[in-house]
Amino acid sequence: MYSKILVPIDLSDVGHGKKILGIAEKLLDPDGSIIVLNVVEDIPGYVAAELPDAVVRDLSSNAHKALEEATYGSSANVTLEVRRGSPASAIVAAAEQLEVGLIIIASHSPGLADYFLGSTASRVVRHAKCPVLVDR
Ligand code: ADP
Repeated sequence: MYSKILVPIDLSDVGHGKKILGIAEKLLDPDGSIIVLNVVEDIPGYVAAELPDAVVRDLSSNAHKALEEATYGSSANVTLEVRRGSPASAIVAAAEQLEVGLIIIASHSPGLADYFLGSTASRVVRHAKCPVLVDR
């Protein structure tokens, strides 16, 4: 059992995000907490220049709202966190800063062959200093 678990959710695959949140709930101490994290990737300047200002400005708040919907009804003590940057680096940094005991991550985006580990998942497994549970 773990007192603090980090669950990174890719908003393009909320279904699997809910599944790993369910696993975290089962592995959590009764008085423990889950941090659900989404990392908003930085948009290259040449792409941002083509988008309405409001779209770029609201990326983080929209991600926060999407996390609220994805975690609605969870029985656990869940904290939501949105960070900017590269997903793998931000997940590893968050795990260290928040001193979590476990990261639970999905293996890859839907549709890829089962023997692949996604790029974010494999970087997190290689660089995290805490245990990582990879769900297939
Ligand atoms: P793929 O390379 O097949 O797209 P990834 O390794 O990027 O697969 O994604 C696997 C898992 O990594 C996701 O389901 C999620 O748990 C985590 N993840 C990926 N991108 C993000 C992100 N931007 N924010 C939070 N978690 C993410």
